[in-house]
Amino acid sequence: MTAYSKYINEVLRTKSCHDLIHPWTMSCRQSCQDYMSNWSFDGVKFFFPAIMISMVMKTKTNYTKAILKGIYDIMMCSVVGHFSFAMAMTTSCVMYNLLKRCYYSTTVFIPSLLGAQMVNLLPNNAIIGHANPFACMFFEILIKFIDLECMHTMRKSRWWGTFWFMCGSGGLLHLLNKQRKSGVFWFLAPPKKAKNNEAPNEEDIRKIVNPCSHSDSCSTFVLQGMRTYANYGLMVEILRNIASNIGKIKAKPGDFLPLATRKINYNLITFLMAYVGCYRWTCCLLNNYSNGMSFDVVNLLAGFMAGIAYVLWPNYNLFSTCIVTMVQVYWQYLLNQENCPKIIEKINRLPLGGLIYGICMAVCVQVMVFYPDKTAHLSYTAIKANSSGGVEGLKFTLTGPLFGQ
Ligand SMILES: [Zn+2]
Ligand SMILES: [Zn+2]
Repeated sequence: MTAYSKYINEVLRTKSCHDLIHPWTMSCRQSCQDYMSNWSFDGVKFFFPAIMISMVMKTKTNYTKAILKGIYDIMMCSVVGHFSFAMAMTTSCVMYNLLKRCYYSTTVFIPSLLGAQMVNLLPNNAIIGHANPFACMFFEILIKFIDLECMHTMRKSRWWGTFWFMCGSGGLLHLLNKQRKSGVFWFLAPPKKAKNNEAPNEEDIRKIVNPCSHSDSCSTFVLQGMRTYANYGLMVEILRNIASNIGKIKAKPGDFLPLATRKINYNLITFLMAYVGCYRWTCCLLNNYSNGMSFDVVNLLAGFMAGIAYVLWPNYNLFSTCIVTMVQVYWQYLLNQENCPKIIEKINRLPLGGLIYGICMAVCVQVMVFYPDKTAHLSYTAIKANSSGGVEGLKFTLTGPLFGQ
């Protein structure tokens, strides 16, 4: 990697910020104005599925309120995302003007890290919501950079990937059971330890009250969970279609139904159904036939078995979301321990969300520009959407001369 960065430094020697950042204008000020004002709707489309799915699944009754809150969060995230990238591009110009030449680290990495600090303008939970997808992409890139045989197998084999997702899912549900108030989003919450004979609350059904304290039969309970999750998946998909076709719907309100149901991602729906179905089914099975197995073990094994749903829809996003969520919950679990190490408390006082977002975003942009074969698919989409195509242009102007294009 050192030899590669030296090589890039050599290539960048003759380049100016005009060549790389704003080939359409000589003026750095004009470029800053253009980056700031060139806002597109792509950022909204990018943040939509992740934010909306957590909003819809977290809510119990008032869906309209949840959807409006989701739309607000999505707008905030895409506006901040846009300005972070615009600031990053501007900082790159500032760096060039200060240092009088472009370097491997000062063209993309440091400017992105600094530009990303715009995220600190958001409230804390929104910062975490913003940092999460970038942490997932960072993790995906990390997997691609680890040059080990087992990693190659894991990436290429559907069944190995599924096995690791099952381990991750079991571990995550175990941690979610230990750390109840984590505030993170995951498709399932472990059931509350309900008292026996307590009538299950209709509204609480999706939270999976203690599996075998449910009043219906176990099969009804499992099927009910699958139906509820199918509805969630369908609702998110329809909302996503509406959001991405809003212009067309406005122009032709008569086409609302075909447009809203045009591109339904059935993978998401079948994954959700299989995930909750396997979890509940394993819980019920163990509760009925395992002769008093403790709830901790039942939950861990059910979480592990639920992970098999991954085989229906193997993808990096699911996998990395699971691992990143696990790290977050574990962090909170550590903080809540009585003998929590002092160093953890000290680190937690730092503006962690902004720092993590900054580092992950800077790595993602750096990899996208200089190592295009290692970039995460999601990070490519995210960066392209947030920078309104700006970084993609940068990628071509930078890697074009590097690879002799
Ligand atoms: Zn410039
Ligand atoms: Zn049951």
